Amino acid sequence: MNAETKYSIVVPVYNEEAVIHDTYRELKAVMDGIGERYELVFVNDGSRDRTADILKGYAERDRDVKLIDFSRNFGHQIAITAGMDYASGEAVVVIDADLQDPPSLIPRMIAKWREGYDVVYAKRTARKGETAFKRWTAHAFYRLLQATADVDIPVDTGDFRLLDRRVCEELRRLPEKNRYVRGLVSWVGFRQTSVEYVRDERLAGETQYPLRKMLKLSLDGMTSFSSKPLKLSTTAGLLLMGAGILYALIELGAISFGGASFSGWQTVIVLQLLFTGFLLAAIGMAGEYIGRIYDEAKGRPLYIVRECYGLPERAANAAK
Ligand code: UDP
Ligand code: MG
Repeated sequence: MNAETKYSIVVPVYNEEAVIHDTYRELKAVMDGIGERYELVFVNDGSRDRTADILKGYAERDRDVKLIDFSRNFGHQIAITAGMDYASGEAVVVIDADLQDPPSLIPRMIAKWREGYDVVYAKRTARKGETAFKRWTAHAFYRLLQATADVDIPVDTGDFRLLDRRVCEELRRLPEKNRYVRGLVSWVGFRQTSVEYVRDERLAGETQYPLRKMLKLSLDGMTSFSSKPLKLSTTAGLLLMGAGILYALIELGAISFGGASFSGWQTVIVLQLLFTGFLLAAIGMAGEYIGRIYDEAKGRPLYIVRECYGLPERAANAAK
């Protein structure tokens, strides 16, 4: 690890030849203005255009530029993870390559970090230049996730954020494969705060998040931080069984007081409700076990210690 590097800027890049030069220039301008050692860690996520060549050019000419060139497209979240693995700064900033996340926000994030926060995430107050569909789906998704997730994942924040080295190290210890990085950051804990900004339009090029990738990302988010969907069928099953019992009681009442008799179709409805309900409840029960197996398979550590007091040897290990 290079102890001198104060800040690492991690930039996942996929087919961004149209904007990458502006991004590079702006990041340099902002970081030069801060006046401390920094590195720009570009992760080329298997771009099929000239992005890789352009980035190689920077890495040759500029010693502050590092380039991690993937063998193929592994996806945004994996690219971010790789960037963190290679970053050596005391604070690591993750930022998109298309200038939708304004680099001018970085000094404000750094100021918060200096105040003692370990995670500073950028919260968008508005999104410009994106389709109504994208805005609406993103809005709905973040709220749904907030409502179901087991950890508090802040709404309307992307991956644009600053992480202290300690947080980075903890994230690197999480071995799971389907990574939803912003959820993991919430899960890790420590002192977290936000700065607000208006999300700009993409400077050029097109979104690299087609519906397919958006779905994959939201499913990763949902399934990694909530097992509620697995348990849905228990609730549905219990409701159906309840309905079956209620209906049977009503019919029995009618028979005993009104002299009517149980006809074939009524029996079928009652049995149908009872059996379907029982099956769904049983599937939900299996879901409980699967949820626990999944928790074990994720292999996350049980807890993360911020600091130890009165335990000299351990405290030394945990120190920054
Ligand atoms: N990206 C990536 N791999 C992918 C898709 C996207 O590294 O498979 C990068 C992309 O270059 C950009 C960031 O992830 O820096 C966010 O992607 P994009 O701007 O297309 O998403 P949007 O802002 O439309 O949600
Ligand atoms: Mg974008």
